Amino acid sequence: MAKRDYYEILGISKNASDDEIKKAYRKLAMQYHPDKNPDDKSAEDKFKEGAEAYEVLKDPQKRAKYDKFGHSGLKGGQDFHGFNDVNDIFSNFSDIFGGAFGGGGSIFDDFFGGQGGGAQRSRRRSGTGTPGSDLKVVLKLTLEEIAAGTVKKLKIKKNVKCSTCNGSGAKDSNSYTTCSVCNGSGEVRQVSRSLFGQFVNIAPCNNCSGSGKIISDRCKTCKGEGRKEDEATIRINVPAGVTGNSYMTLRGEGNAGKQGGQAGDIIVVFEELAHEYFIREGDDLVYDLDLSIPEAILGTEIEVPTLTGRAKLKIEPGTQSGKLLKMRDKGIQHLNQHGAGDQLVRINLKIPKFVNAKERELLKELATQPNIKVS
Ligand SMILES: [Zn+2]
Ligand SMILES: [Zn+2]
Repeated sequence: MAKRDYYEILGISKNASDDEIKKAYRKLAMQYHPDKNPDDKSAEDKFKEGAEAYEVLKDPQKRAKYDKFGHSGLKGGQDFHGFNDVNDIFSNFSDIFGGAFGGGGSIFDDFFGGQGGGAQRSRRRSGTGTPGSDLKVVLKLTLEEIAAGTVKKLKIKKNVKCSTCNGSGAKDSNSYTTCSVCNGSGEVRQVSRSLFGQFVNIAPCNNCSGSGKIISDRCKTCKGEGRKEDEATIRINVPAGVTGNSYMTLRGEGNAGKQGGQAGDIIVVFEELAHEYFIREGDDLVYDLDLSIPEAILGTEIEVPTLTGRAKLKIEPGTQSGKLLKMRDKGIQHLNQHGAGDQLVRINLKIPKFVNAKERELLKELATQPNIKVS
């Protein structure tokens, strides 16, 4: 699938100002926002596409690269995220989606009347219980796994929902009393005064965690927590082309919340393992190949390792030390893009440290020959 032009995606001209870019993206993000288009895959794709365009064009350096070289001038994972998850978009563009202080022109002002948004948004939705915490997992990947993408299964310890009470923490549906702090509303009003006037802040009730109910008879299995520690197997779909230290968010797969609270996330941080033969440079691979002096002078055919096996490589007569030979598309697949990097074979002439008497004689004679002599 060919990528669309970033300016075209945002519907702006090539010389749009930073402000115009931001405005155009805000408009597009509102139009295709997942909250407004539930279960609409094409809206979600447009939302992600817009986020990528904005991520590049809002940064003067990335924008300059893009203007000069187009999509091929940018590296996925480095210049843009390649968003797999719309929630990553919220956390990356807090300037657009608003942080805790809402008011500064976040698009959530338009949706929710300035209650703030961003990462808290999805947490707030479920209402009851205390949210579970996030878990961080470091996932070590070989270059082979990165090059083609892989699926990993990991066993982790985490809090999972109690199956006896289905996470509620109560023995049964009659095991509740109405919360005396909020009288069952789940909310408390706090009035605060400042220079600018009086504010009424509505917050979830701490006593009942916003549920309006207090458990009177607890579930015996989880002692009222609604969750318990257990071992769980998580499945991680690693896309091809990820880089070390980049991460992926598995939404809702972290620790289960207390008493039915929303689960946290798992943050998977990728770590790239060193390879026996290759050094990674972007999506290219560099392989150092030792050649003898006669091989370099006369040319030869030689087998070199690749990420998927071995391949024959032709060495032309007169190959120079330090020369880079390109094996096209044998590198790492680009992240969320078609095509792959190359394998670069760097020629290194091997000079023997010791020679025997016969070799010494031959080399001495060779040294006098017109094409061998340097001066
Ligand atoms: Zn339970
Ligand atoms: Zn309450």
